[in-house]
Amino acid sequence: MLVRLAVTFLGTSAAVPTPRRGLPAVAIRREGEVVLMDCGEGVQRRVISESVGLGGDMTILITHLHGDHVTGLLGLLQTMSLAQRRKPLNVVGPHTLLKWLEVTSDLLHIGLTFPIVFSPARAGVVLRTGGFRVRAAKAAHSVEAFAYLVEELPRPGVFYPEKAKALKVPEGKLWSRLQKGRPVTVGGRKIEPPAVTGPPRPGRKVGYSGDTRPSKALARFFAGCDLLIFDSTFRESDREKAVERRHSTSAEAAELAKQAHVHRLALTHFSARYTSVSSLVKEARKIFPNTMAAADGLTIEVGYPE
Ligand SMILES: [Zn+2]
Ligand SMILES: [Zn+2]
Repeated sequence: MLVRLAVTFLGTSAAVPTPRRGLPAVAIRREGEVVLMDCGEGVQRRVISESVGLGGDMTILITHLHGDHVTGLLGLLQTMSLAQRRKPLNVVGPHTLLKWLEVTSDLLHIGLTFPIVFSPARAGVVLRTGGFRVRAAKAAHSVEAFAYLVEELPRPGVFYPEKAKALKVPEGKLWSRLQKGRPVTVGGRKIEPPAVTGPPRPGRKVGYSGDTRPSKALARFFAGCDLLIFDSTFRESDREKAVERRHSTSAEAAELAKQAHVHRLALTHFSARYTSVSSLVKEARKIFPNTMAAADGLTIEVGYPE
């Protein structure tokens, strides 16, 4: 029973949008739960076109308070209110994010129909939701910025129907309980899930750097990610600019992905100066072959670790 864990890129440009790329935002979806990372201007239209539901269990992670990562948040909250959202909304970000939200929503007379549960970002575990654990780490940018690691909670092991049959567990509801890692009782006998399933599988991990220089600390933080989404604002020939503006080149992102032994790397936050990002991808693939370029509207599946 494979639960789908999908990552959709909603905006993949840096600083300014281009005709094909909007400002930064990424959605992770798993069984109706949504984790949205950054909310660049225009995120609402993408959320709608990619059918990311706004009424369910939802967490918004903001990396830092640069306009391109946060100005879409207010409009999103307003739309949720117009749709009469009632469920609390988890928001994680630098502590000044809450102040910005309070001041702007007050000035614009935005009354929310739902509570915001705000957790200030700091190094370590910042939030646990129904399906995920969220960790943060300091990024190395020009303002206070955080990188996030969204870890799926451990999943029950592979279910072996023949073992369940041998133990005379009738097919149906009881099988489903065991598959979910819960014990059942058959004819007075208690059957624990390990009797019919493989060992629990570690959850899948998606890492998101936000804007940052590469660092050893981030390579450790992202170790073993199934998918790492990393700042790739510049190509290698523009490294000076990357250093000066506290961003990364695609080759630096690839170097970090290699050090961190991640499974797959998605480059994002491309400078609008490049009409094509194929040279950035090429440079990265020389260092870390399993590299792809994020694109607006692209959805990828994150598989289980081998
Ligand atoms: Zn940015
Ligand atoms: Zn920035």
